[in-house]
This record gives sequence, structure tokens and C-alpha cells, in this order.
Amino acid sequence: MRDFDFVVLGGGSGGLAAAQRAAAHGARVALLEPGALGGTCVHAGCVPKKAMWLAAQLASRGRAAQAIGFAHGVGALDWPTFVAHRQRYIDAIERGYGDKLASAGITVIPQRGRFVEVSASGASTVEAGDGVRLQAPHVLVATGAQAQRPAVTGAELGAVSDDVFGWNALPERLAIVGGGYIAVEFAGLLRALGAEVTMLVRGARLLDGFDAELADALTAQYRASGIEVCFGTTVDGLASDRGRLRVGDGSFDTLLWATGRAPNAGDLGLDDMNLGRDARGRIIVDSRQNTKIPGIYAVGDVTTQPALTPVAVAAGRCLADRLFGARADAALDLPLVPTVVFAQPPLASIGLSEAQARAEHGEAVSVRRSRFRPMLTALGGGESRSLFKIVCAGPEQRVVGLHLFGEGVDEILQGFALAIARGVSVDDLEQAIAIHPTSAEEVLFAR
Ligand code: FAD
Repeated sequence: MRDFDFVVLGGGSGGLAAAQRAAAHGARVALLEPGALGGTCVHAGCVPKKAMWLAAQLASRGRAAQAIGFAHGVGALDWPTFVAHRQRYIDAIERGYGDKLASAGITVIPQRGRFVEVSASGASTVEAGDGVRLQAPHVLVATGAQAQRPAVTGAELGAVSDDVFGWNALPERLAIVGGGYIAVEFAGLLRALGAEVTMLVRGARLLDGFDAELADALTAQYRASGIEVCFGTTVDGLASDRGRLRVGDGSFDTLLWATGRAPNAGDLGLDDMNLGRDARGRIIVDSRQNTKIPGIYAVGDVTTQPALTPVAVAAGRCLADRLFGARADAALDLPLVPTVVFAQPPLASIGLSEAQARAEHGEAVSVRRSRFRPMLTALGGGESRSLFKIVCAGPEQRVVGLHLFGEGVDEILQGFALAIARGVSVDDLEQAIAIHPTSAEEVLFAR
């Protein structure tokens, strides 16, 4: 039995952040991770996805360059070369984590962990895959989530997002099932790289939960780019037919399930423990990351909090500050989480959609919009437009939502997000000095 102050299950975004912050406060920390340090974000999420998105952006820029007079676009992507560059980048991040954990004095155990004893008043005991037992008064569950295939015939013939990062060639004709952000991101980037893409969406709109007007603008843009978007389509089976996949009367060489993720909370030895779960099995936590059992906490995708890396990181740091630092009442404040969907072009959003604002604030809501052709598009005679939308509420017309769709918005939102969190009003935006000529200035000019 080895004693620690803090045992962390999972070396992804949330677990690493919590472990490092706790060690910086002087805690004796053990971190268990059976896979590669960095978790989903580094190995099967944000990072490899963004690398592919950047490649797709270069392909689109190549077409824009030809439209204004350059002789050539960028040509076809050599996948093995690209994959090697992407992997080198990822390996460097993983090595960096290993070095930081070592220099922080954190004990890293490359094993899965399971609870074998839980005490409501004292230390819990975790057993590593090799049988070594660890005891600590504070244990963090940061085990993340994994992609799910639906329970339909032939589901195993389709890929999930993790598999995409193992591809060594572009699929020619691809179906993507789902309309959430992962479906939208892969559809856009694989289309930009040259694949024929069909999206099969059960609902009536892409990106449920985002502002409907932007989701509609995105759908129109995707259709204009050649993506077939089919709403009201339920896929209830998949069959293999002479090397191709048959879905209803469609035939594809690859199908990607983007139909949801499930928390990694089933194999933690917690079956009989009442940690508190929602209907999807995610661990319910309060703003201090407490579960129902004292001394056991959870952060990141295994919880009901938004499944985004910066949220997992903020939650992990906040918890470590509360347990081992000077911020005894540190809590996570989550009403305004900025987020970007790396579509083609990207969509960036913070706060309330127009519909949510009207439900919450009624008549006191006003909306401003700017619809414009970005300069690079206009120069080449292109028609696609950006749509920026500001949702304001209350007597002072504070900005309660900002929704941006168009080139560059992935980099534009961050600064405005800070201003919105600090309570910026529409008057403040009007009085700001613009940076010209940019797309960002359209946030100030929206009417
Ligand atoms: P993870 O990063 O999943 O880490 C959990 C770790 O726990 C894993 O390494 C796992 O091996 C380990 N583990 C599991 N069980 C055990 C156990 N019993 N004992 C010990 N260890 C265990 N977020 C963004 O903010 N921006 C993006 O652009 C973005 N893009 C994404 C694209 C895709 C395709 C996907 C799938 C996700 C994306 N995300 C993005 C979400 C982001 O990756 C997650 O929110 C983030 O990784 C969650 O971190 P985590 O620490 O909760 O879990």
C-alpha cells in the first residue's frame, strides 16, 4: 500500500491539469493512465482534428488563391506525409507532459485504476492494473469518455472518430451519421480535402443547441460546397456489399458514426457506490467537482459539465486550488463558456442563442446582425457570406450571446468572450475603435 495526498485516475486534459496544480501546491500526487499521456484531446480529439482542419483550410485557401489569379491551388494532400507531421507534433506534446510530470515529482503509473475501498470519512483505496494499491484522502476521477456506435445491425462496419486519425488516405465517398459538432467538423474538412460527403442527420437541424440562424447558414454553406445534408434520416442498419457499405439505398466506401460519446465510468469498481449519475451514466458534480461521496471528485467528459478541454482543465485546477492551495472556496463558474466548431468556415459561439435569450428575458431582448462577404471571398468573386449575431438583454442591453460564422471567427471570439464575461453592453461595442479592414470590426458595426 502506498500513501498519497491525491490520486488521479486519467492522464487527459482534466487529470493532468489537476495533478500538476496539486503538485505545485506541495501535494504528494499519483496519476494513473493506461494509455498515452494527453488523453482524447491530444491523441483523438482537438489536436489531430485541428491539424486536419488546418490542412483543409490550406486546400480552401489554394482555391481562393486561384480565384484571384495564382496559377495553381495546393493540389492533393499526400496523406502519409501529413500524418507523419501530425504524429511528430503529437509526440512532442506527449513527451512534454512526461517531462513536466517528472519534474513536478508526480508518480506516474501506466495502469488503469479501480476503487477497491471507499470510506466516507477517511482515505479511499485504488488498485492499479498490476495489483499495486494506493491510498489517499482525495481521489479524482478524470477518465473521460469514448465514442459510441449505435446498437444497430452492422454498426461495427462503420468507423468512429478515433478511427479517422488512423486513416492513411482520403475516403472517396463518405457518409457521416450525426449532426453534432464532431459530424459537422469532419464533414467540412473531409469535403474541403476532396471527399464526397453525405450527412445523415436524424433531427431537422445541424448543431442542436447553437443559435438556429447560424446553424441554418452553415447548412446552406455546406450544401453550396457540395455536401449532401439529409435531415430526418435515421440509420437503422449497415450492410457490406462487394467492398462497399450499403445504408438504405445509398452506397459508400466509408461510414463514420458521430452519434455520441459515453462516459468511461463503467469499470471503476464503483458499481455499488452511489456517486450520482445522470441518465447517460455521467457523474453528476457540483461547481466544486464534488460527487456524492466525500473525498471522491470528478472532472471533464466523465461528468455532466460541458465536454471541452478548457472546461476540464479549469475544473481540475480549481479543485486542486481548493484542496491544496489557498483558495478554499474555489468553484467553477460556467455560465459563459466560449466554444468553436471547426467547420468550413468555423462557427464560434458564447452565451445565449436568440431563442434561449427570449425564453429567459422575454421582451427585453434585442438582436443585431452583420452579414457580409469577407474580403478574400469578395476579391475572388465568391458569394459565401459571414453572419455575425449579437444577442442583448435588459435595460442596459448587455451582450448575453455572441454567435459568429465565417472566416477567422475561431480566432476572433476569444477577446470578445472576455469582454462579455465582464458585462460589456452594446453601447460599449459601438464606442470601441475598430481595427480596419478586418472581419472582427463587423462585431462593432452589427445593427
Ligand atoms: P480524456 O482526455 O478523455 O482523458 C481521460 C483519460 O483517462 C484517458 O487518457 C484514458 O485512457 C484514461 N482512463 C480511462 N479509464 C481509466 C481508469 N480506469 N484509470 C486510469 N485512467 C483511465 N474539445 C475542445 O475544447 N476543443 C476541440 O476542438 C475539441 N475537439 C474534439 C474533437 C473530437 C473528435 C473529440 C472526440 C473531442 C474533442 N474535444 C474538443 C473534447 C476534448 O477532447 C475533451 O473534452 C477532453 O479531452 C476531456 O478531457 P478529460 O480529461 O475529461 O478526458
